[in-house]
Amino acid sequence: MTDVDFLCCRCGKSEPRLEAPPIPGPGGREIADKICANCWQEWTQAEVMVINELRLNFMDPKSLETLQRHMREFLLLDGPAAQSP
Ligand SMILES: [Zn+2]
Repeated sequence: MTDVDFLCCRCGKSEPRLEAPPIPGPGGREIADKICANCWQEWTQAEVMVINELRLNFMDPKSLETLQRHMREFLLLDGPAAQSP
């Protein structure tokens, strides 16, 4: 199913979208709205490397925050020049 009006905010192409939010919460909906299934697939591979590289521990809320930040950066959810306040 291809939605011609949809342009992925990461690759800028009209790729097939995710069928459902890939993670729970409003962040997941945002990803499903903006990111194509291809780019999400790329992130799931990059995610493993980020987790290994930074030795993230999911019991630690700080680790989850760090992973989220990497995810938003990777998917360009905040735009290329976005800075956190
Ligand atoms: Zn994309």
